[in-house]
Amino acid sequence: MTSHLRPGSLPPGPPRYAARCRFVQVTLGSNPGGHLVNLCRHVVRDGMECVGPFLDDTETMCGLWEFGERVHEPPGRG
Ligand code: SF4
Repeated sequence: MTSHLRPGSLPPGPPRYAARCRFVQVTLGSNPGGHLVNLCRHVVRDGMECVGPFLDDTETMCGLWEFGERVHEPPGRG
């Protein structure tokens, strides 16, 4: 019997890296001198920080993840 799920019960498809989610928006934090933050622009979590993780070779467990180009790019990277 062939399983259609990869180890960890993730569905088949491209690696589910948070950085490759179509809904992630990289932007500056609101605090002065703030660092970059990864916001979610999915309708369910809009404006909340992405659950990540943003580590090499570590896939997200977010059930809302979809592969795609980022909806928004960081300021100055257009
Ligand atoms: S929280 Fe989920 S849907 Fe939102 S940007 Fe992160 S991985 Fe994508």
